[in-house]
Amino acid sequence: MKHGICRNCRQQAVFKKKADADYAIPIKTLSVSAVYHFICANCGYIENYILDAGKLRQIEQHWEYVPPQDAPRRTDEDDEDG
Ligand SMILES: [Zn+2]
Repeated sequence: MKHGICRNCRQQAVFKKKADADYAIPIKTLSVSAVYHFICANCGYIENYILDAGKLRQIEQHWEYVPPQDAPRRTDEDDEDG
């Protein structure tokens, strides 16, 4: 999405806007990061991003890391007995 191509429909119809302050993410004391909405004007798909690299480094330092785990793969073709 950040590169201008919709992840969902592959169209070049992506627009971005800084979200309202209500969406700002508190990272740690006295540090808040803006959030940007990326929306495809073709299919309506939405993604949200923090674009400030410094804020992302703060999250790495202060938030709990989520290690990768093996999870059952699901696709749209999966049925309920998988
Ligand atoms: Zn789309």
